[in-house]
Amino acid sequence: MSNPLDVLQEKIIQSQSIVVLTGAGVSQESGIRTFRGEDGLWNDYRPEELANYESFVKDPATVWEWYEWRKKIIIDSKPNDCHYGLSTIESKKKLSIVSQNVDGLHDEAGSKNLIELHGNIWETLCVQCKDIRKNKSLHETIPPYCSLCNGLLRPNVVWFDEIIPMSTIESISEKINDCDLFLILGTSGLVQPASWFGMHAKQKDKYVIEVNIDITPNNQFYDLHIQSKVGEVFSRLNYDF
Ligand code: NAD
Ligand code: ZN
Repeated sequence: MSNPLDVLQEKIIQSQSIVVLTGAGVSQESGIRTFRGEDGLWNDYRPEELANYESFVKDPATVWEWYEWRKKIIIDSKPNDCHYGLSTIESKKKLSIVSQNVDGLHDEAGSKNLIELHGNIWETLCVQCKDIRKNKSLHETIPPYCSLCNGLLRPNVVWFDEIIPMSTIESISEKINDCDLFLILGTSGLVQPASWFGMHAKQKDKYVIEVNIDITPNNQFYDLHIQSKVGEVFSRLNYDF
């Protein structure tokens, strides 16, 4: 049987169009904790109580306090070999990333064709005039207000009581329909709608490779499961193609 890394390498070289789904595991080697697992963020706070619009309207300062706490932890994190590997492949062939991460590290690594499914923690959205700004820094006072209209600013992320627009889901489905390789990197596959994309890719008969340090609920449906750290895997690929 071929070495799984050789299969991944070959498939990347052969593919005309690649779609990549990434989750919190992709940023683990950048020092950002995942939500689930032994030292998951869940253990200190209750995100389901804070990460929703209803809580924000009731108490914007407390919700902002949690976001500023998370931002402070990740502000010095840098992209790792997986983020850079993906942007290098994108410079050579058609590749799109659909990321569940809000840390902005794919963008920082130079990826252009990027859908941040759950938004970006470094962006603010004005609830009044809808202005979006990106700034990788912490706020001096919370809650922050819009410099254009003085409306309340919120983090530009998707909360538990919010939905991802259907047009975004449709555009991702189309990308999957057009690809020949679908990569699922560092995601537990428990969060919808992202977990649905892998099954959709299989229904469309695409070659699906998953890289995760763990066994995942859906891995038996995929063509190849590589049980390793994503950063290590991408550091061992050859990008001369
Ligand atoms: P998750 O926390 O549910 O799962 C992370 C997965 O990554 C697990 O299956 C784990 O086994 C795997 N993993 C951990 N380290 C890895 C590594 N080095 N290499 C390969 N695999 C590794 O994360 P999720 O599936 O992305 O879903 C959780 C939600 O949490 C998302 O909606 C996301 O927005 C949010 N979140 C984002 C960040 C971030 O932006 N970096 C961090 C935590 C949570
Ligand atoms: Zn405004």
